[in-house]
Amino acid sequence: MSPYENLLGLSHEEKLVLAEGDLGRIPDDLWERLCDGCARCCLYKLFDTAGGVIYQTMLACPHLELESCRCTVYAERHQKAANCIVLSPANLSELTWLPETCAYKRVQRGIELPSWHHLVSGSRDTVHRGGHSVKNFAVSARAIAVSDYPYYIIRLIGRHRPERNLTFCR
Ligand code: SF4
Ligand code: SF4
Repeated sequence: MSPYENLLGLSHEEKLVLAEGDLGRIPDDLWERLCDGCARCCLYKLFDTAGGVIYQTMLACPHLELESCRCTVYAERHQKAANCIVLSPANLSELTWLPETCAYKRVQRGIELPSWHHLVSGSRDTVHRGGHSVKNFAVSARAIAVSDYPYYIIRLIGRHRPERNLTFCR
């Protein structure tokens, strides 16, 4: 049986598209619904290019509303935030720093969505209640000096090809 057979609110056709694992065939509205709302992708990362590693910080994009973990400029986010990544089927595999729980990654790999995902639980709150979103620890980067970003590192999340010195990206 497909790991997406029991997802809530999806048509038979939508479940089939997910089961195929071809992200390029997912319609736009389903693509949007698939996001779990964790906002982990809205946290700044520090790229230590000399060491070839990527660190996760607890600093959230200034456009993220921390209580709801919702983007306040979603429709125009790519104009408002230069570092806002356009997550798409084409670049998903390159975004190695995305969390393993990211719904897009899981569908691409044919893995079931976690029990706290709203398409499983039926509630948008379960991502927060279970501590899977950034709600309880993120700090807005709005008033933080770039030179202080390293103080907000929480963990190492991956490796990348050395290009420049320590820099940041969402
Ligand atoms: S990490 Fe993935 S599932 Fe979570 S908010 Fe970002 S795009 Fe959505
Ligand atoms: S602009 Fe982009 S990075 Fe910032 S909160 Fe919105 S979606 Fe997240």
